Amino acid sequence: MPELPEAETIARSLSPHLVGRRIEAAAYPGQRVLRGKPAPDISGRQFVSIERFGKQLLLRLDGDTLILVKLGMTGALLLDAAPDAYTRAGFTLDSGSRLLFRDTRQFGSLNFLAGEPTGLGPDPFELSAAAFAQRLRAKQTRLKVTLLNQQFLRGLGNIYVDEALHRAGLHPLARASRLTAGRAEALHTAIVELLTHAIAERGSSISDYVDGSGARGNFQNFHRVYGREGQPCLHCGEPIVRLVVAQRGTHYCPACQTR
Ligand SMILES: [Zn+2]
Repeated sequence: MPELPEAETIARSLSPHLVGRRIEAAAYPGQRVLRGKPAPDISGRQFVSIERFGKQLLLRLDGDTLILVKLGMTGALLLDAAPDAYTRAGFTLDSGSRLLFRDTRQFGSLNFLAGEPTGLGPDPFELSAAAFAQRLRAKQTRLKVTLLNQQFLRGLGNIYVDEALHRAGLHPLARASRLTAGRAEALHTAIVELLTHAIAERGSSISDYVDGSGARGNFQNFHRVYGREGQPCLHCGEPIVRLVVAQRGTHYCPACQTR
């Protein structure tokens, strides 16, 4: 499932092809993915920007219409791909290009909004280390659960939470509120550095993820714990352990990551 670095990579791959372009026609062969039905008529509208919003994509059109795209497990926004049975929406542009939303399992969605999206916590890059530490102090939940919570912080999912906690030397079951200010701020630094590196490597391609041009990411080659159960920790050599926290597979090094 795409997380912040993958959403940012998709936004960057699509922006040069979409921004300033007008939509000539929109079609929705997969009504199930539409939220806020019926979809508004957006023909003639122009793309103003393509942004990430947490793990989601925000397509900003003129006339104050926003399309919030949740990719879910298998959703993809693809430019000039051939339509198939899994194409749920298609936008024909005045450039002659076509943007498709393809989603095999249909856990994704297109949500037409009349105003800014609400309900999610801050983006990790918008938050200072001190503000992050303060938010963390108010949470009684375990670190893994806290960081997966999109109302706490938007954009991190299973992969990047595990990777950030290893880089910060923190145990996934540690209580958020018990962290010292110093360790909490170091965790914020680890998150920002991790996401910056992952964006530079164009995200992690574990299963289905590709960017808007169909290209895979490369950050899976830099994972230190995610998917490495039983393999030696790259820092200390101890085998990486997998446990289940809040029904999510969680990977960590028992020697490097402490409470
Ligand atoms: Zn280790």
